[in-house]
Amino acid sequence: MIINIYISRINLLRVFGYVITRRKSRLVSIGSVEIGANAPIAIQSMAKTHTDNIESTVHQIHELEALKCHIIRVAVPDVKAVKCLGEIKKRIHIPLVADIHFGHNLALEAINQGVDKIRINPGNMQKREKLEDIVRLAKKRRIPIRIGVNSGSIRDQRGNETDLVELMVNTTLRYCEHFESLGFKDIIISLKASDVQKTMQAYRSIAGQCDYPLHLGVTAAGAPEDAVIKSAIGIGGLLSEGIGDTLRVSYTGTPHQEVRAGYKILEAIGLVESSEAEILSCPTCGRCEIDLVKIVEDVKRRLPTKKQSIQIAVMGCVVNGPGEAMDADIGIAGGNGFGLLFRKGEKIRKIPENEMVTTLLEEIESLQP
Ligand code: SF4
Repeated sequence: MIINIYISRINLLRVFGYVITRRKSRLVSIGSVEIGANAPIAIQSMAKTHTDNIESTVHQIHELEALKCHIIRVAVPDVKAVKCLGEIKKRIHIPLVADIHFGHNLALEAINQGVDKIRINPGNMQKREKLEDIVRLAKKRRIPIRIGVNSGSIRDQRGNETDLVELMVNTTLRYCEHFESLGFKDIIISLKASDVQKTMQAYRSIAGQCDYPLHLGVTAAGAPEDAVIKSAIGIGGLLSEGIGDTLRVSYTGTPHQEVRAGYKILEAIGLVESSEAEILSCPTCGRCEIDLVKIVEDVKRRLPTKKQSIQIAVMGCVVNGPGEAMDADIGIAGGNGFGLLFRKGEKIRKIPENEMVTTLLEEIESLQP
């Protein structure tokens, strides 16, 4: 059933003059949020509070809701935590996912508490019949299960399979077949490795062998400065190939940063419209004769807080400056102590360096809807 399903491709979105096509996946609902098929890519995060501290968990989730996080997951390490899920669910507005490892009773209780999805690694559930109890109850309650396989959790199961990617993919497909044999198809898959290339290989491989929606992520990605690069390459690269239906950027940091980074990835590849002014600035070099770094910093710091989707180009000289400045909504191409101001592709006037920041801010203000 799940083997050798060829990917049929559909147009996703025409952006920046090219079309990203998307792997055709099955539609799965997580509470009010649809994942897969033509549904928008959903951004997820994980609360970093202790789940049994209901107040701080709900507070953090509300903050993430304000950042437009679509789905939130919480850790369920013990009975105390699982008993709080019902109350947390009542007080939040986005789908709640329970992250369960080892404890089959925790998974059953999480479902009974009314969560919208559970995430398990079936390899961590020792007894087959206990795993089947979970699948049957999820089916009865009509909630999906994410089969979340991580490279770190699978190493012990290597046996004769020495290739980690192959092992992750084959193991996951076996889990899927097991779930299917119980008549359960509300499956979402994640195959995360801390190695970006292995992560991408695993997702590419499984994308061609089943039609379940894929939850993208690079696991144990590290501190923000490392995690953002790995995630941009891994998650962004896969999405650019049309692979992936939902994502979580994993940071050793706050979940707020994870959500913001998720949006930045989607914006960078044109899958959502940028919600804030985007500054395109050159890296500067020996040709630059204005203090471009300071100008960019000042403009960025003083940008209006009102959300708007515009591009501002701030370029150091005439080499690439006029071209980029003309392509942006507003642009400046620097010269020797002055700059040429462009608006919507038209050259407007010459301005001295010391007026560039205020002029740009006035121009931005004039484009406010
Ligand atoms: S636009 Fe001009 S100043 Fe900026 S990096 Fe290019 S050549 Fe250098």
